[in-house]
Amino acid sequence: MKFETQAIHAGQDPDPLTGAVVPPIYQTSTYKQDGVGGTRGGYEYSRSGNPTRKALEECLAALENGAAAFAFASGMAAEDCLLRTLCRPGDHVLIPADAYGGTFRLFDKVLSRWGVSYETVRQDDLQAVDRAAANRKPKLIWAETPTNPLLSIIDIRALGEVAHGHGALLVTDNTFASPYLQRPLDLGADVVVHSTTKYIGGHSDVVGGALIVKDAAHTADLAFNQNATGGVAGPFDAWLTLRGVKTLAVRMDRHCANAARVAEMLTGHPAVSEVFYPGLSGHPGHELAKAQMRDFGGMVSFRVAAGERAAAEVCGRTRVFILGESLGGVESLIEQPARMTHASASGSPLEVPADLIRLSVGIEDASDLLDDLRQALG
Ligand SMILES: *Cc1c(COP(=O)(O)O)cnc(C)c1O
Repeated sequence: MKFETQAIHAGQDPDPLTGAVVPPIYQTSTYKQDGVGGTRGGYEYSRSGNPTRKALEECLAALENGAAAFAFASGMAAEDCLLRTLCRPGDHVLIPADAYGGTFRLFDKVLSRWGVSYETVRQDDLQAVDRAAANRKPKLIWAETPTNPLLSIIDIRALGEVAHGHGALLVTDNTFASPYLQRPLDLGADVVVHSTTKYIGGHSDVVGGALIVKDAAHTADLAFNQNATGGVAGPFDAWLTLRGVKTLAVRMDRHCANAARVAEMLTGHPAVSEVFYPGLSGHPGHELAKAQMRDFGGMVSFRVAAGERAAAEVCGRTRVFILGESLGGVESLIEQPARMTHASASGSPLEVPADLIRLSVGIEDASDLLDDLRQALG
């Protein structure tokens, strides 16, 4: 089945009891056993397993073309579980020099205390990655593409070859692209990470995360740790995420079309000094993005020529774009990463320009979005 069909049907057969077309919200913590040990379908406690969560996990595994998926209460819970499953004290990890601030914070402030070290490497420089991997024999390479918030494009296939050449795993955070635009496991990644809070949920009404593995090798360990550490997605959150993912393809098409119009308008605007959007032919990752993605995504970043204060003022003047963190919902959002989403990376190699604005371009009418940005830029 094709992507659009899987998004609606994978893991979501009509309920065998009633024929309900939508998987029910199994809002239960526990399950009646038919005699001690006599579980129905293996369900004994909802941290260990829940049918609504299972429906979401099967759907996400299908969409990323993986062997199995695991749904969590947030993207960070998914990342933490993955890293504590794959890494041991003494292990080293290569992370991108341009990554989600929370991911950086997890390595820098939490996992480093548990003996997992990290170093940042520019992943658009494959020789630098290769040198760092040869030096330190990392357990895994963490990649994000397009990157947040600078929208660089990383060559997943080439990075996978480098990682595997040094006995490391490649983990790819696919939150920005979504599986509709890019499937890292098909390109050589071993594990995909999602904040399903973003495009997969798509409506800014639920926080969630997921891991999808390429082959069965890590499935048992991840399932064990998902239950042992307990950061699972609740049934209602799983249901909301499933409801969102059904329309992922149509939403992404509109996100991409609107973002392309916004990027084009900003490129010609006198108040803007630089635009970051992989769909622009001048973007250094444009050709690579064309090859590895179906389209260029809904995120656009730009720098305000008049500086940091002016950028904050632009963020305060939009009327359709809502000033707020997060991304990937149907509504357009605007934010200043240096003071908001990426404040935790201040003073680190991941620090972002202070005059940068990041847009999550929603699926509203494109001309309303363009008018709003023009009035805010003055
Ligand atoms: C939001 C985000 C995360 C973290 O996910 P949460 O659901 O907020 O915990 C991780 N990676 C990227 C790229 C994100 O945008």
